[in-house]
Amino acid sequence: MPAEVRRSRTQVGIVGAGPAGLLLSHLLARRGIDSVVAELRSREYCEARQRAGVLEQGSVDLLRAAGLGGRLDAEGLEHGGIYLQFGGERQHLDFRELTGRTVTVYAQTEVVKDLIAARLAAAAAIEFEVTGTEVAGLETDRPVLSFTAADGGRHEVTCDVIAGCDGFHGICRAAIPAARQTVSEREYPYAWLGILARVPPSTDELIYAHHRRGFALHSLRSPAVSRLYLQVPPGTDVAAWPDDRVWAELQTRLGRPGWDLKEGPVLEKGVTPMRSYVSEPMRHGRLFLAGDAAHIVPPTGAKGLNLALADVAVLAQALGALLLEGRAGLADAYSDTCLTRVWRSTHFSWWMTTMLHPTPGADAMESRLQLAQLRYVTTSRSAATSLAENYTGYPPLLPGAG
Ligand SMILES: Cc1cc2nc3c(=O)[nH]c(=O)nc-3n(C[C@H](O)[C@H](O)[C@H](O)COP(=O)(O)OP(=O)(O)OC[C@H]3O[C@@H](n4cnc5c(N)ncnc54)[C@H](O)[C@@H]3O)c2cc1C
Repeated sequence: MPAEVRRSRTQVGIVGAGPAGLLLSHLLARRGIDSVVAELRSREYCEARQRAGVLEQGSVDLLRAAGLGGRLDAEGLEHGGIYLQFGGERQHLDFRELTGRTVTVYAQTEVVKDLIAARLAAAAAIEFEVTGTEVAGLETDRPVLSFTAADGGRHEVTCDVIAGCDGFHGICRAAIPAARQTVSEREYPYAWLGILARVPPSTDELIYAHHRRGFALHSLRSPAVSRLYLQVPPGTDVAAWPDDRVWAELQTRLGRPGWDLKEGPVLEKGVTPMRSYVSEPMRHGRLFLAGDAAHIVPPTGAKGLNLALADVAVLAQALGALLLEGRAGLADAYSDTCLTRVWRSTHFSWWMTTMLHPTPGADAMESRLQLAQLRYVTTSRSAATSLAENYTGYPPLLPGAG
């Protein structure tokens, strides 16, 4: 006998409890709109997944306006610039002075913890550890989100709208007929080996280093924890990189006379592929894609998390107009509105990536061009301002987060 299906109704069915899905659920609730969130992983897994760590000023403003600024304001580290290191020199770009804007180092794990705590405190419907997620009826005005809950019960939730916030490997983008999607994709011939280390940062701001042996990045997570990355070949096995090899390579690529890179216990180590990917449009019928479900950028520009948050700020407002007032204009414009920012960030991330990473096998010409570009952005005020403007992000596309 097939198990009984539990049928229910909500306004917005949300697939995925990453930053996009959780913030969307929170912003919708502030407008009085119900949602159900279905998430593949456990709460503990979602809260521990190490990913991004740099928030644009617009993302910080958005989280604050949505009532999520408490721990962010207490523990986030405001940064007024970055260092670019190349050809034996380390130059500082002062974002505050160039643009009046800053970024904030606050780990994605903390953003997710804050969002889950806020949603659960509001008795929100979040189902962790679901399996068999499916979406159907996307071209009708009653799409259906189905999943098997952790207790084995099969659920069918009838919705007004479904939000696909299920990341790059989710099921929602795949539910759009291929003939209705345009995909733009670029794989880069390198990956990042990242470590999280229990050691105070050796720098006050992020260091992006161009080195003939490969790119390196010194990022930060907190006063006691550092995040560091090395350019490695795609498909690199972390087992080939014991901790002492990682530290030795970081010392070589980041090292400078008179500057000390402090070492400490490695808490986590992983390899991230580098890819640019955009699937357009970000809407099909009553399915709206947001965040990594629709687009991926290489992490060099620190844009992935910020794009995910920006998408759902636009989507919450559009769904408010559609579901509360019957006005479809913002929902109809959702994809184009988001894609303007997505493509700007896609270009910036590609530009930062190709300026800072030596392509394996490239001739000396590439290196000279990269160094010329790095020298230009660190000596021309207008070039530096352009980098700073892109890095700190654009003002929110739509006012009002709540
Ligand atoms: C290893 C790694 C390192 C990164 N580092 C950086 C960085 O340094 N800087 C930066 O800006 N960005 C970085 N990013 C990108 C950034 O983390 C993402 O852009 C951000 O997580 C996007 O949020 P999201 O909510 O759209 O997607 P996700 O965070 O991927 O969330 C999607 C959620 O959907 C769930 N899900 C998937 N399939 C299903 C299903 N079938 N049913 C139900 N739930 C499902 C997933 O479990 C997940 O919880 C990194 C990404 C990765 C993978």
